[in-house]
Amino acid sequence: MLKIYNTLTRKKEDFIPLNPPAVTIYSCGPTVYDYFHIGNARSFVMSDIVRRYLIYSGYKVKFAMNLTDIDDKIINKANAMGIDSKEVAKKFSDAFFEDIDKLGLLRADINPRATEHIPEIIAMIEALIKNGKAYEVNGDVFYEIRKFDGYGKLSGKNIDNLESGSRVEVNEIKRDPLDFALWKSAKPGEPFWESPWGKGRPGWHIECSAMSCKHLGDTFDIHCGGSDLIFPHHENEIAQSEGATGKPFAKIWMHFGFLNIDNEKMSKSLGNVFNLRDMVKKYKPETLRFFYEQTHYASSLNFTAEALESADRGLEKVNNLFDTVKSALAGKPDSGAHSFDFEKSYIAFKEAMDDDFNSPKAIAVVFDFIKEVNTYIANGDNLTREFYEGALEFLKKTADGVLGILRTEKVENSDSGLEEELIQLLLKLRVDAKLEKNYALSDKIRNELLTLGITIQDTKEGSTYKKNR
Ligand code: AMP
Ligand code: ZN
Repeated sequence: MLKIYNTLTRKKEDFIPLNPPAVTIYSCGPTVYDYFHIGNARSFVMSDIVRRYLIYSGYKVKFAMNLTDIDDKIINKANAMGIDSKEVAKKFSDAFFEDIDKLGLLRADINPRATEHIPEIIAMIEALIKNGKAYEVNGDVFYEIRKFDGYGKLSGKNIDNLESGSRVEVNEIKRDPLDFALWKSAKPGEPFWESPWGKGRPGWHIECSAMSCKHLGDTFDIHCGGSDLIFPHHENEIAQSEGATGKPFAKIWMHFGFLNIDNEKMSKSLGNVFNLRDMVKKYKPETLRFFYEQTHYASSLNFTAEALESADRGLEKVNNLFDTVKSALAGKPDSGAHSFDFEKSYIAFKEAMDDDFNSPKAIAVVFDFIKEVNTYIANGDNLTREFYEGALEFLKKTADGVLGILRTEKVENSDSGLEEELIQLLLKLRVDAKLEKNYALSDKIRNELLTLGITIQDTKEGSTYKKNR
């Protein structure tokens, strides 16, 4: 039984979906005013793993990740660049999709954008005013947090202890300093939409409430995001959604730990960020995923170049076994029974992931599996087609399907298959050249492939190759 730590109840809970086998997930996505950094990427990868594991477990997952495409940061960037805020949002939304594809994230089922949900946002604000939870002042609409009994239940904060002005802006027109904007009246030169309160734009928090409600329903299974969002963003989402619908909002709240650098949160405002698109020029995306997954999602993780280098070396073991097994299968081994116990590894993998998505434990299971398979191969017993297929299937389902760290899978996806066949042909010609003792030709094939970024590896079972990015 899958157990998930729920920030709301502060307990690890049995995961019982509202409508099995359906599972609904909402993950807070990027504000598209810049390229995203490897801190953001950690949260995105972790929500991808949650989703992939639920799919692996047989659930039918509906996954929504929003794009905040109207916000102060976007307006400021547009002013700085001398372009329209729509263009800023378009440029960095496109970049976002390019980058998440590189990271091997499954595309969300829905990527709702704030600017495409203005009617839903306005309807929710109207419901809040009607329910006595929000008030208008000169074209701005605020949420009155003291009207929502449960305010503070997610973050564990007590309203009276929250000092005014320390984390929230002091604003004379609000009834309480903690009241937050649902609708902001347009300042000169800012983008705006018509509303019952005049020209303006939505606040940040309301978009997630309105869009999750529209696409996943009033109540849904899992809401996730980085732990910096617990307060005030997620606290406010609960106040808005429950205040408007009168029904419970997300059942489970998951929060991902920070990626730190020199023990400080990686964040644009601190100026200590590495953009993902620069990082993947130097390291394989799988290496980054592997680096993130070596730490449990809830813990903080310190970024160092050494940690990435060591993740890169660790990953080689997974990919080497994948190559070995694939090339053994290409050699058409005999069919027959084998004595390898795959079931044991599947059970151990499930136990690890069922324990609140314990990816470091799951990785340890994959590494134990690699060790055992290598020993089995070295012993040379029952190396049948069924054995190799079993090994391949385990790697594809776990290391690739759930963890997304197999390099070769992406090569297979992105190529037509012709490239693979051509490389295999060259490998075969090289074997022929060697048999004819034409070492000049066999070396030439090896060196020419190397210049194309392909390294040939000769093993007992034959030749395989590795692509260097
Ligand atoms: P933003 O675009 O700033 O709203 O962030 C997008 C996502 O990245 C949110 O879920 C944030 O919580 C998350 N995030 C931001 N910085 C970090 C970090 N250093 N480590 C992990 N997650 C982060
Ligand atoms: Zn959100």
